[in-house]
Amino acid sequence: MTKKRNEWGAATKLTHPPRPEIHQKNTPVVAPIYQTAKFVVSNEVPLSSQFIYSRVANPTLRSLEESISEILNFDETIVFSSGMAAISTTFLGLLKAGDHLISFRELYRPARIFIKDVLSGFNIEHDLLKLNELDSLPQRIRPNTKIIYFESPSNPNLQIADISKIIKQAKAHGILVIMDATFAGLQLNSGMGVDLIIHSLTKYASGHGDVLAGSVSGSKKLISQIRPMNIALGGSLDPHAASLVSRGLKTYQLRFEKQSSSALEIAKYLEIHPFVTKVYYPGLKNHPQYELASNQLIHSGGILSFEIKTDVGTALEFSHRLELLQFTVSVGSVESLICPTELFFGEDLSVNDRREMGINPQSLRLSVGLESVSDILADLEKAFLK
Ligand SMILES: *Cc1c(COP(=O)(O)O)cnc(C)c1O
Repeated sequence: MTKKRNEWGAATKLTHPPRPEIHQKNTPVVAPIYQTAKFVVSNEVPLSSQFIYSRVANPTLRSLEESISEILNFDETIVFSSGMAAISTTFLGLLKAGDHLISFRELYRPARIFIKDVLSGFNIEHDLLKLNELDSLPQRIRPNTKIIYFESPSNPNLQIADISKIIKQAKAHGILVIMDATFAGLQLNSGMGVDLIIHSLTKYASGHGDVLAGSVSGSKKLISQIRPMNIALGGSLDPHAASLVSRGLKTYQLRFEKQSSSALEIAKYLEIHPFVTKVYYPGLKNHPQYELASNQLIHSGGILSFEIKTDVGTALEFSHRLELLQFTVSVGSVESLICPTELFFGEDLSVNDRREMGINPQSLRLSVGLESVSDILADLEKAFLK
């Protein structure tokens, strides 16, 4: 016969700690974290509606998935252990050997490398076009083209994709359109007509730079084609990491609006700076795609890039001179982050492609944080004066 708790040995007591009862209506204001790999199987509800194993499903992950579906206005979302897990699992879930994918060179570098080096190893063909040459898109569409994949605004120089043009071409041929909308924050939704939206939740969604996560959102039908691949590949998000993203999301709107207005102020300062030769920011009137950007984005985002004169040294030297602005990769955090673009974003591209894309020894990408703008400007000014 099973022993009573007070009769258990110390080892049994320690492995099965007490669970204080909470009245059903006495709920915690913040959802508890289901930091558990598995759930006890019940005979009172069908197995299919139970949580069993957290790689497959977990209430903390489910809450985050529903939250992202709500804000992006899609039926379903899957969250992953990183943005790259979202991208790779989505492609592998939807493509098979012999399929063809169209994308663009203006892509987050690891995603570009995944398409060029990994997918090609599985006999999935690709074409990488230039984001500003969409007129050549129809000629690249083949009978086996399954997906058009793009980013907007693009990394690192904030090019804006003409989304409706891409969708029009794709729909005419029954091709899926997938967008990585990380740089745009969570303001672009299903209303644009893309089939799936991917986010690196590591960036604006979580916002504090302390967690890696990713998501893909879309229709029930498409998501159900991707979920089995997530279970098979196993890039599921940890519940504690999911709770950090959910916590970040609570302040997302405030952060994104503030970071967008600070970025505009800084872009305007840089635009007239005697040591700056170029500024790329979709919220600036002189951005070549200002109109396209303002049709797509309510807030222009917290990321900008700029080029400095050789008189003040290279982008690398300039980055090392900054103190408040942190010289590192990534974007969308509460701290301002800066990096020379050529150091991290172009290694796999030809020199010609890099130069056309504005990736050169003088260019920098700045992700504006939540600091006082005057302190950011003072740090930049100090670096300009050497
Ligand atoms: C960071 C980033 C990713 C990858 O996300 P991780 O969470 O770092 O894996 C993908 N796309 C874009 C545009 C990104 O900025």
